[in-house]
Amino acid sequence: MHLSRRDFTRLSALGLASQLAPQLTHNLSAQSGDRKIGYCIIGLGRIADHFMRGIQETGNSKVVALVSGHREKAEMIAAKYGVPKSSIYNYENMDQMRDNHTIDAVYVALPNSMHAEYTIRSAKAGKHVLCEKPMAVSVPEAQSMIDACKAANVKLMIGYRCHYETTNLRAIQLLRSGAIGQIQSIQSAFGFNCGAGEWRLDKPLAGGGPLMDVGIYCLNATRYLTGEEPASITAYAHTDSSDPRFKTVEENIVWITKFPSGVVASCNTTYGAPMDGYFRVYGSKGWLKVDTAFSYEGLRLTAEYHDQDKHTVKLDESNPEKDPTQFAKEADHFSDCVLHNKSPQSPGEEGLRDMQYIREIYKSAGIIMA
Ligand code: NAD
Repeated sequence: MHLSRRDFTRLSALGLASQLAPQLTHNLSAQSGDRKIGYCIIGLGRIADHFMRGIQETGNSKVVALVSGHREKAEMIAAKYGVPKSSIYNYENMDQMRDNHTIDAVYVALPNSMHAEYTIRSAKAGKHVLCEKPMAVSVPEAQSMIDACKAANVKLMIGYRCHYETTNLRAIQLLRSGAIGQIQSIQSAFGFNCGAGEWRLDKPLAGGGPLMDVGIYCLNATRYLTGEEPASITAYAHTDSSDPRFKTVEENIVWITKFPSGVVASCNTTYGAPMDGYFRVYGSKGWLKVDTAFSYEGLRLTAEYHDQDKHTVKLDESNPEKDPTQFAKEADHFSDCVLHNKSPQSPGEEGLRDMQYIREIYKSAGIIMA
């Protein structure tokens, strides 16, 4: 069957628009009654702190247990969130959470290469899993996580917080409405200067460099902005081999994705420069920009296009939401799925797709992935 660009865009827009409809029409769910989903937080680092604070803003979620290698730190956090000491586990005994019926779900906030093991152990303990991005460090690992959750009959969601974030959803809505016409090209970037000594620079823990960590936001955005899956990808990487930070992971990587409808996207990521996350979308009738697009607050959408009457429309929308609201929306969504037996908007399969494209990008750039 041959689909014209117009047909393709219309069909993919219908698919994604219907998938995203719940988020476009509601914010935090208020109708969950008294029942709150109890989360066990696995790994008490930076992102876990955002997530736990986010949970406090929901009406359907609570922190009930912790897994940490540092007992003292865990006890301090437990006191803050009202977690009983008996619900503090370490990495060795966490499988005992099977018998803790206050725990419905886990949030996996560990270095990337640990996501698969802790997701699978949690699933075997009968707990639903919300796992941070990137889902894993290889395609087979990602598949094994999906399989384990299916076998245990528990839900698996990947922490793509931008899928639940107001400004990103607004951009998708504008694009699907045809406001800027036929999308022609997309540019996106996200990177930062990574400090020495971070696990992010250690391939056995990180699985890869900035592509795995923050480039994945650009990759995922090009997919949700177009509503299409990449047809082909070409990539280049460069690493300053004299910089001691980059012994095992790449420093810079750029890639170009061609989508089936003809949209071309170019993306950049780095661990060697401050690079605020953004995307720009150019269409036949105008443009749309979200800058910053992937940060925890301070997102701003601007756009300029011609409407049906050929009038110029200019948008400038700053998102007033503050951190940790994005995490609250993410937790709220997953808890809502668990409470009402619904499928998450960003399931394991979504994470698996990104792992497959990351493998393609690395392959094209001549980098071997696990
Ligand atoms: P972090 O270094 O701040 O926290 C990692 C936690 O894992 C720490 O509590 C650490 O003690 C624990 N840990 C257990 N074993 C470890 C080991 N062998 N080496 C290092 N730490 C170990 O990292 P983070 O920034 O919170 O990232 C955690 C995960 O969250 C990563 O997968 C990352 O990609 C993801 N993340 C997601 C977002 C987002 O916005 N969704 C943002 C940042 C990080």
